This record gives sequence, C-alpha cells and structure tokens, in this order.
Amino acid sequence: PPLPPYIGRFAPSPTGPLHFGSLVAAVGSYLEARARRGLWLLRIEDVDAPRSVPGAADGIIATLARFGFEWDGDIVWQSRRLDAYRAAFEQLKLAGQVFPCACTRREMADSALARDGSRIYPGTCRNGLPPGRAPHAWRVRAEGIVVFDDRVQGRQEEDLARDVGDYVMLRGDGQFAYQLAVVIDDADAGVTDIVRGADLLGSTGRQIHLQQLLHLPTPGYAHLPVVVNAAGEKLSKQTLAAPIDMLQPPAALAAALEFLGQRPPAGLGKGSLAELWAWAIAHWALACVPRRGQATAPALLTPA
Ligand code: GLU
Repeated sequence: PPLPPYIGRFAPSPTGPLHFGSLVAAVGSYLEARARRGLWLLRIEDVDAPRSVPGAADGIIATLARFGFEWDGDIVWQSRRLDAYRAAFEQLKLAGQVFPCACTRREMADSALARDGSRIYPGTCRNGLPPGRAPHAWRVRAEGIVVFDDRVQGRQEEDLARDVGDYVMLRGDGQFAYQLAVVIDDADAGVTDIVRGADLLGSTGRQIHLQQLLHLPTPGYAHLPVVVNAAGEKLSKQTLAAPIDMLQPPAALAAALEFLGQRPPAGLGKGSLAELWAWAIAHWALACVPRRGQATAPALLTPA
C-alpha cells in the first residue's frame, strides 16, 4: 500500500556556520523524510534580519550540498515572505487576538522567567494601553492548554498563560516573530512532520496555539536530543561549537548517526558518501533516537 504523503523540512537560521548540533537536526529530518519516501524542503530562517550573519546562509547551503543532502524544490527564504506574515498578522488583528503593548523590557524585568529565558508577560496592556503610552509591540493573547505527543520526547503539555504568557507577534523594530514565520511557512509548504532539535520544544506550544488561531493543520513533531559540549552547554556560536566544514563528511555524518542512536557499522565513516547515505536511509529508525544526547564524538564538540 502507498505510504501516507510526507513533507519534512530543515530550517536553519543563518547565524553562523553549520555545527554538529545543526548537522544532527539536518540528518534526523532528512532520514525520516527519505525513509518515509517523502519530500525534504530547505528553508533559510532569516526573518530576524538583525541576527542574520552575511554569508552564513550560503555557507550552510554549500556545506549541506557537500555532505550529500538533496533537498526538494527551491530553497525558501523567510526574508522574502514578509507579505505572507503580514497577512497572517492582519488576520489575527481582525479577530481581536493580538493587542498593542507599551511595556519595555525594563518594565518586565521583575516578571517570572519562561523556559526559553524570556519574561512571562504580566498582562499590563492586555485590556488597553495605559494612558499616554505608545504601542511598542503587538502580543497575541495566550490562553489554554496545548497537549501534543512528540514522537521522541513523548507527551508534552503546556499551559500557555502560566508557562509563556501573551507572546510577541510583531516586535517594536517591525520584525515579525519567529513563531509566526515558522507556522506560516510550514503551513504554506504543506509540511506534515517537523523533526528538529529539542531546544525548540519550548516553542512548540506557541506554534500549535498559532496554528489553532489561524485554522491551520498541526503537523507531527519529533524533537531530537540536543548536542551539548563537554561543559554540558548547548552547541552554539557562543559556546564555540566547531564548524563541521573542516571535517570529512562521512565521518561527521557517521558521528551524527551514532548520536541519534543508530548503529552505523565500523568503517562507515571512512567510506564514501554514497555508501553512508545508502546505509543510513535503509536503516534509519526514529524509534532508536534517545531523548537526551550523549556526546560520543568529543573531537567534534570542541573548538577547532
Ligand atoms: N531556525 C531554527 C534554528 O535554527 C529552527 C526552526 C525549526 O526547525 O522550526 O534553530
């Protein structure tokens, strides 16, 4: 019988070169899409213009190509999709689901911290701007409990008011929130399944909430373990993750497979890219991916 249609994607932010942590997300999303005979799309998440590093997107695309990833269709650039985000924002506005907010970061400094380190909004402007104050950002009213079954991390539950609070949709600097861009892009591309790093687990509740407000389907989710360095920190430019460009692609890919709980045969990392991908697609099992990561290849996780 034919498999149900599957559309997956990889959506890197161009904030620096691809590192081992982002390679793991690329490998997991790619193999799940290929194993399910689906499509795998590539989207560059450059909606946050101030955080995008010039040249980083081209570097990531070149590295993916050199590692043998084959994406379907044209690359989508968020920076070219602002009209779609604006239309969704207007829809939320018409439905009364967003409100202008005058609060500054300093005014919110005493509010409780959300899981992602942002402040839980205390609700100050929820029922109207305080007199004499100008709007600074737009927030969406966050209420209700979001529950979803993550295919790696298990059942997740988020109480929006308690865990995140009313969250920003349009920032003071005119940038649309990353949460809105991701939801609109995935829906427009017909993405059925999202496989990405567990560092985004805390964003998923808001994204499902937005899908519900905008009457969009909710895809399946699988959040892969996060790669940490020897000090237990998530790999990022700040923690000086080694860029993977300098590594041999088969060796780096074999390390990613091992990290994801697959059992590549000894020597796979020393063979050809074609052999590596053929083995990986034939043997991929999402059910073997562990919830938490264990750095098995320390050499990849320390600065070059
Ligand atoms: N752009 C995000 C990142 O690089 C990933 C977003 C997603 O996969 O939904 O961390």
